[in-house]
Amino acid sequence: MQQDIKTKIHRIAPRSGVGFEIKAGHILTVIDPEGEQVSDMIAYNVADHREYMSSGRSIDYAGRMFLTTDDVLYSNRSTPMFTILEDQVGRHDFTLTPCSAEMFRKLYHEDDPHRGCFGNLAEAVAPYGIGPDAVPIAFNIFMYVHVDSDSGKIEVRPPLSRAGQFTQFRAEMDMIVALTSCSAGQSNNFTYKPIDYSIS
Ligand SMILES: [Zn+2]
Repeated sequence: MQQDIKTKIHRIAPRSGVGFEIKAGHILTVIDPEGEQVSDMIAYNVADHREYMSSGRSIDYAGRMFLTTDDVLYSNRSTPMFTILEDQVGRHDFTLTPCSAEMFRKLYHEDDPHRGCFGNLAEAVAPYGIGPDAVPIAFNIFMYVHVDSDSGKIEVRPPLSRAGQFTQFRAEMDMIVALTSCSAGQSNNFTYKPIDYSIS
């Protein structure tokens, strides 16, 4: 990895999340240290939290469902928020909402569900005054959602990421970012692992 050796690598424990600020021009590297682990990412304009990273805008402008190197992640106001730089995995999802307690109840019939990425993202952005209803569709880094080209039927498969692979994002504005180590069994081949990240 082309990384300044002084760049600190932070670890997100399994089934948890973090929030932080990033300045325009800095590079966020999201690493899957053990392989087959998803990380949900959301972002807001630091100057106006009503501007957030938008799945619909980004997919529309890319003209593709699956975004990778050189693609731009846009805000709901059509402003670039991140540009994807080196992407060693090449497959991510930008269509599904963060896993949540309600989702675990509905899809997997769990009686006492984990709060999921949704709860972790909401907690991570709460100190910035951003409420849970403002948590949008996340850019689901390393998540592999297979789509049948005829029926549109979707199937969540194990991520293609192998241990140590990473994806880099250049911040195009000053942002509040929240990042998780995903809590959904199906998305992570049924083991919960950490996610590493650095900002340089
Ligand atoms: Zn999740």
